[in-house]
Amino acid sequence: MDFSRWRNLIIDMDGVLWEGQTPLPGLLPFFAALRSTRRAFVLATNNAGLTIDQYVARLGKHGVEVSSAEVMNSAEATADWLMARAPSARLNVIGGPGLLDALTRRGFHIVDSGVDFVVVGKDYGLTWQKLDAAVLAIGTGAQLVGTNPDVTYPIENGLGIGNGAILAALTAATGVSPIIIGKPEPIMYQQALARMQCTAASTLAVGDRLDTDILGAQRAGIASVLLLTGIATAAQLAASDLQPDAVLPGLPALTAALLAAPG
Ligand SMILES: [Mg+2]
Repeated sequence: MDFSRWRNLIIDMDGVLWEGQTPLPGLLPFFAALRSTRRAFVLATNNAGLTIDQYVARLGKHGVEVSSAEVMNSAEATADWLMARAPSARLNVIGGPGLLDALTRRGFHIVDSGVDFVVVGKDYGLTWQKLDAAVLAIGTGAQLVGTNPDVTYPIENGLGIGNGAILAALTAATGVSPIIIGKPEPIMYQQALARMQCTAASTLAVGDRLDTDILGAQRAGIASVLLLTGIATAAQLAASDLQPDAVLPGLPALTAALLAAPG
């Protein structure tokens, strides 16, 4: 693969930059190479557990300086999507502080009746009452929007319940399927392209999951590279119909490829 054509990168974080709290090898040289070869990038994650400022701070703690415009999560992406489509929409929200903050900062009204959209993200304060309110709103015509479709997510001793499973419950109760903003839908990738003011043809997606990062890139018409430092294994890759444009063992190999083809 000729890396000189990739002037812009859309980069996943969990399993690419770090594993849990631990930065993966080659983190600092990778960002140094992005800067020295004048490549633009957006860090884009389905994980809306941290706010943009918290991601900027976390990278800073590891010695990497990025601006808030260089970070995107599915909560912000959802708020931007709604803003572009229905800036005066009235919302019912299941979600944590990150999603609520992203929506209220843009001036959205969170209401109990006359709801246009039910917006659903991970909510540690989820109650049966909140689910009832969402189902009632959908029953009276509100559209269902999910920040991300992941049905599980990693917790300490294995996998816990993800946002996609709560969306599935709402679909079971209403017969209404959600509009999904996060990967593997192309919306967050398209927003990242718009933010960098660049085309898909000059952009490379970097991720560790075939079913979200790589599939989403393909749906957005963006070339992709899979790093084997996260979820996907070489065995999974060999058995999958879904194939990235390149596979690299980790950040050091990607850094070397970028430096060898400065563009
Ligand atoms: Mg990941």
